[in-house]
Amino acid sequence: QQRVTVIGGGLAGTECAYQLARRGVPVVLREMKPHKRSPAHKSDSLAELVCSNSLRSDNPESAVGLLHAELRALGSLILRSADEHRVPAGDALAVEREGFSSAITRALLGQAGVELVAGEVETLPEEGPVVVATGPLTSDALTRELERHVGQKLYFYDSIAPILSGDSVDMSVAFRQSRYGKGGGDDYLNLPMDREEYYRFIAEVKAGQKVVPHSFEEPKYFEGCLPIEVMAERGDDTLAYGPMKPVGLRDPRTGKEPHAVVQLRMEDRAGTSWNMVGFQTRLTWGEQKRIFTTCIPGLQGAEFLRMGQIHRNTFIDSPRLLSSDLSLKSEPRLYFAGQISGVEGYVESAACGYLVALALHAKLTGTEWVPPPATTALGALFRHVTGEAHPPDYPHQPSNIIFGLFPPLTGRMKKADKRAAYSARGKQDLAAWLPHAGVPASGAPEHEE
Ligand code: FAD
Repeated sequence: QQRVTVIGGGLAGTECAYQLARRGVPVVLREMKPHKRSPAHKSDSLAELVCSNSLRSDNPESAVGLLHAELRALGSLILRSADEHRVPAGDALAVEREGFSSAITRALLGQAGVELVAGEVETLPEEGPVVVATGPLTSDALTRELERHVGQKLYFYDSIAPILSGDSVDMSVAFRQSRYGKGGGDDYLNLPMDREEYYRFIAEVKAGQKVVPHSFEEPKYFEGCLPIEVMAERGDDTLAYGPMKPVGLRDPRTGKEPHAVVQLRMEDRAGTSWNMVGFQTRLTWGEQKRIFTTCIPGLQGAEFLRMGQIHRNTFIDSPRLLSSDLSLKSEPRLYFAGQISGVEGYVESAACGYLVALALHAKLTGTEWVPPPATTALGALFRHVTGEAHPPDYPHQPSNIIFGLFPPLTGRMKKADKRAAYSARGKQDLAAWLPHAGVPASGAPEHEE
């Protein structure tokens, strides 16, 4: 049996190595800690949670809660350790972080078929299957090496704009139109503001509480991608001449050009989720919700599927570079798992590590790789990485799991019932797919210390 090298013992790498080994594939897991650490990693354990200790909502009627449920059904190491080290946090799955990470470390140390090798990987092994799972803070030497293999730049300063659920936008305020009627003429949703509303919004953005950058994240913004608060600080009218410019738009109800607009761009083919164009921001999540819902007409009842954020990141343009088994098209022995493939978040990274283990196991055993159905959280995440969940030219950006990545529900239903419907559909379809995952009989590791 060929041995797989998994590089990076974070959320994705540990789940991937564990699932491969449990299916009989020998693995060498190479982790640079404790010899070298990224600026955010502090502990010596594997699967370190670098920031929050929360794996977010555990409610199966949220997209991430559904992902938790699916990973539990698959015997995920990350979920099992999280459940064992859970601390009370409402409906969130929060964990005692050191207990969580040491349980994962012990499970891997005790798992037959896993060899743990410490030290930074600077060049890829010349032979054999390799899974790159080195995360958003991949070391500089390996980043340069990977850039040579994939043929593109991998280091970004990620500016993420919020995403809204389409059915939470007040359509009596919003109007569909593209500037100067370009494209289909109605590709965008526009939220018009008058003068007074605009200046009130600017004042709130300037005064709002911002997330303080980490010391290693000293912001170097691209001029074309400035956070809204940075633009607002440059002058009260800067946004009105930038992403909020009203030119080429006419509010059908007044017949006039508004003073400013917030534009929403379709995020998925079905139009269930919408991106706030140019609204990347370091405002805290609470402040984003407060300011956007109180100051932007039409967003009073807005449901945020993702909040705006800005941080350093390393990821590949996976929809264009990876095959449908998550291996590199140009070098099929190389696989990418976790945040480096363009998922965002602890649970999503672990889930991606699990998917890569399944795809690679299928290749090594000559069996068919059957991805999870699109209606499951795992399938939606997979389709985000391969690009199938997005319009063809969609610029690949890391994403958490959100219902906007799922195929839309069919039939009419009340907004309040939608989450339950997504969840029930996913649960049913996962059950039908589960035999393809070949989950080993027991969830427990073979030789825990
Ligand atoms: P990681 O968990 O980062 O694991 C990568 C591993 O690879 C690390 O152990 C690293 O030491 C190792 N490694 C790197 N380079 C090499 C090399 N050359 N050789 C060997 N090993 C190497 N997500 C959340 O859900 N909640 C949060 O609150 C949150 N906060 C974040 C804060 C910051 C500052 C950052 C950067 C990210 C944050 N994220 C958060 C995102 C989160 O880090 C990732 O989603 C998740 O940890 C990614 O999992 P991963 O396995 O892809 O990478």
